[in-house]
Amino acid sequence: MPTLSIVVPMYNEEDAMDGFFTRVQRVLQTVTPSYEIICVNDGSRDLTLARLRAKAESDPRVKVVNLSRNFGKEIALSAGLDHASGDAVIPIDADLQDPPEVIPLMMAKWRAGAKLVLAKRRDRSSDSWLKRLTANGAYWLFSKLTDPQIPQNVGDFRLMDREVVDAVKRLPERSRFMKGLFAWIGYEAEVVEYDREARSAGETKWNYWKLWNFALDGITSFSSLPLRIWSYLGFGVSLLAMAYLGWTVAKTLIFGMDVPGYASLMSVILFFNGISLIGIGVIGEYLSRIFTEVKARPLYLVSEKIGFEAKAQSETPETAKRA
Ligand code: UDP
Ligand code: MG
Repeated sequence: MPTLSIVVPMYNEEDAMDGFFTRVQRVLQTVTPSYEIICVNDGSRDLTLARLRAKAESDPRVKVVNLSRNFGKEIALSAGLDHASGDAVIPIDADLQDPPEVIPLMMAKWRAGAKLVLAKRRDRSSDSWLKRLTANGAYWLFSKLTDPQIPQNVGDFRLMDREVVDAVKRLPERSRFMKGLFAWIGYEAEVVEYDREARSAGETKWNYWKLWNFALDGITSFSSLPLRIWSYLGFGVSLLAMAYLGWTVAKTLIFGMDVPGYASLMSVILFFNGISLIGIGVIGEYLSRIFTEVKARPLYLVSEKIGFEAKAQSETPETAKRA
């Protein structure tokens, strides 16, 4: 068993790959001779797989898990964790935005007994102001809504002891909001700070629509407040409506009927129809996720494994390639 497993999800990273291996392996050599690099090819449509295959053939420490299609970073990461066998595991991005030079610092803390070492971004100056604004907003909303507090400016780049990795692997849900899952398992964490660099090559796979859905995933997986709020809202509105009803009846009895208010009637109807639709929409968000969970499909499918020994393959029978 290697001491350290590095897990890298890769989607269309043919340009970033060479630089990645050079820099990471230069650092790893100084840390431990016993390491493995688990590359998860997340259905890339460029030469990523071919290059990974060549790399794995020339270097036994590089192992490749080829997913059957693009499953998204979070699931690719889970697939990597499932295949990592090291005593310590570090997920890292292929674009070198997580500087590998932080790895020795994390390893030092791990050797001193830490089970979980988080790499925290010192600041977000390498992001655009809009990205910073939305990120801060999302963190704020999260801290209000969800129970396990998500540490700010901490991504997937972290060191996990085998015990922590096994804990993460026990969470079966299909909607993999890793930040939340990592927070949920707890464990005392040590922190090392780092500066996030600009992407080394290629381009980001995120856009604001994806980020929005990512945030929705996070909130619905870790809070039921958006569901529960509607009964209170409905109750409050009903009270107001009763009071207004009483007032209208009394007014009509005392002063008689005046010209009916078409405009106010119309706005009230439209407003409350809007509110009801939002309520139904929120239920829909949860329902669709329940549906995904209930179908209980496997999280990912592996179409090929390169560089693993036969023993390692049989350890994950659920997802192992059919013989
Ligand atoms: N990634 C992946 N599957 C995807 C999208 C991204 O495996 O569907 C990988 C990607 O190759 C990279 C990491 O996830 O190693 C982070 O992606 P990216 O740099 O696009 O995200 P950002 O750094 O902008 O958050
Ligand atoms: Mg990146």
